[in-house]
Amino acid sequence: MQPKIRLGISTCLLGEPVRFDGGHKLDHFLTDTLGQYVEYVPVCPEVECGFGIPRESFRLVGNPENPRLVTTRTHVDHTDRMVQWARKRVQELEKEELCGYIFKSGSPSSGMERVKVYDRNGVPGKVGVGIFARIFMESFPLLPAEEEGRLHDPKLRENFIERIFALKRWRETISLTRSLGVLVEFHTKHKLLILSHSPEIYRAMGKLVAEGKKFSLQTLYEKYEGLLMQALRMRTTAKKNANVLQHMLGYFKEQLSPAEKQEMLEIINQYRQELFPLIVPLTLMNHYVRKYNQPYLKEQLYLNPHPLELQLRNHG
Ligand code: SF4
Repeated sequence: MQPKIRLGISTCLLGEPVRFDGGHKLDHFLTDTLGQYVEYVPVCPEVECGFGIPRESFRLVGNPENPRLVTTRTHVDHTDRMVQWARKRVQELEKEELCGYIFKSGSPSSGMERVKVYDRNGVPGKVGVGIFARIFMESFPLLPAEEEGRLHDPKLRENFIERIFALKRWRETISLTRSLGVLVEFHTKHKLLILSHSPEIYRAMGKLVAEGKKFSLQTLYEKYEGLLMQALRMRTTAKKNANVLQHMLGYFKEQLSPAEKQEMLEIINQYRQELFPLIVPLTLMNHYVRKYNQPYLKEQLYLNPHPLELQLRNHG
């Protein structure tokens, strides 16, 4: 059996009663659906830092760029204690081979963005980042990170899951003996996936791989990983996907009849106008790839970047 993808997660999202009031924030998609493919590494900054359950709640106050973590009622400042603990915890997490992290939205410790920060008059603005989340993201800038709330958006969900699966494949690749050939093979399979996110970075990566001999393998791999994560972070759009599908259609010049080509073009155009989800043109394309056993396309992860059961390409 393949080892599962390891993801860090805010403990309360798994249904553990670790919140300040002894409650939890169980998220069924994360536990029941995504949970089949991943192994979670839970982190509850407030409990692990030594605050009990129940405890007084916290809030962020002061400068949104560098806020303080204080108790809501008694106004005790626990920032230094949390920062010290967080720095140690991220060092431990380096050994966990994480492929991503799912944060609890809105939390002064775990929130990834738009966390309330209160000004000196006690007025909140949604402008901050939780203390632990900030230190984590600064330590792992390339690692896919999302919040459970944003993962309810089908497009953000697909993007995040595509990235964690790609990072897992990349980690498996770098565990092999490193060589330009191994990198070229990985890149070849991911070409259309990368193109569907960013044509610009796709070109930069093609150039990097083509000029691979100029660099040491270590530098080459590092540059490649940076570009890969940067590319996949960009959102796909109907327009970008339609361009990739049209590009794929070019591989069937010989095999498809004019009527079949016309039909496929019409479907691609209707998809471009967002009349139906990506799964529709992809299913037909997959059919042709299998039927004609097209060697380049059948290796493309674009056609199969994550398990079908997650139904990530069924949205409009
Ligand atoms: S949001 Fe973070 S700190 Fe708060 S209970 Fe959940 S895991 Fe713990």
